[in-house]
Amino acid sequence: MDYVGQIIRPPSEANSIILQVTVGCSHNKCTFCGAYKEKRFSIKDDATVDADIQFASQYCRKQHKVFLADGDALILPFPRLIRIFKRIKQDMPWVRRVSLYGSARSIRSKTSEQLSVLKELGLDRVYLGLESGSDTILSKVNKGETAQSMIQAAQHIKQAGLFLSVTVLLGLAEVAGSENHAIETGKVLSKMMPNQIAALTLMVLENTELGKAYSRGEFQIPHAYEMLSELKVLVEHIDTSAQFHANHASNYLPIMGRLPRDKEKILALIHEAQSGARQLVPEGLRRL
Ligand code: SF4
Repeated sequence: MDYVGQIIRPPSEANSIILQVTVGCSHNKCTFCGAYKEKRFSIKDDATVDADIQFASQYCRKQHKVFLADGDALILPFPRLIRIFKRIKQDMPWVRRVSLYGSARSIRSKTSEQLSVLKELGLDRVYLGLESGSDTILSKVNKGETAQSMIQAAQHIKQAGLFLSVTVLLGLAEVAGSENHAIETGKVLSKMMPNQIAALTLMVLENTELGKAYSRGEFQIPHAYEMLSELKVLVEHIDTSAQFHANHASNYLPIMGRLPRDKEKILALIHEAQSGARQLVPEGLRRL
């Protein structure tokens, strides 16, 4: 397979065939994100993608899911997406589900009809990074979106009948803004009504704007117990039905459950960890 640079995929796509159709992220300006810093955004040519599909059709016959990388594959022009989805269907008829990362901008770039056509051709799951429901934080981290534009993008995906997974980032608002970040994020998630919510915990990377601010002493990372308090407030303010995952390698306390059914259990688990009755993931074992 033709892979340019480091390939990043959601944890739930661990067993998927990773088909890299774009290189990098078309936005690439979020201050905390180092994922695609070394990559200039580009769209891979048809011949390269076709060769990868051909390879996968021969050697990946036991994998039933495809993940289209990189950071924002939904930004591809609609005819290019149609071509890729048709090739996957034709050459790998055993594939049951295709997923990709979609920014709010790339979601907006497709009409409801276009999203429905992609769903018919196999698109099942869209991963969207909200990061925060606070407009102040979204602006500070240069996300290029507002809470309202994120809610609209989510509704667009849900109306097309697609599965929506939304990622949020604990720690983005330092300690001073932590509670407000958690409350606003919980409220916005409740309006987005995603099928799945993934809470990650900030790890500051040297190659990012945030990393540079941190080394100048201009950004304070909340410590583990402050992150737990933020997580607790976030869970308290989520008022929608969704699968909740805070079991990413960056998290101090692995949690997974169904909201609202498991809300009390999750809050009790956080309380146990806060009181020291449950061990946290050691700093050295956290990863992105
Ligand atoms: S967080 Fe997402 S949108 Fe922002 S730069 Fe990274 S990949 Fe691009």
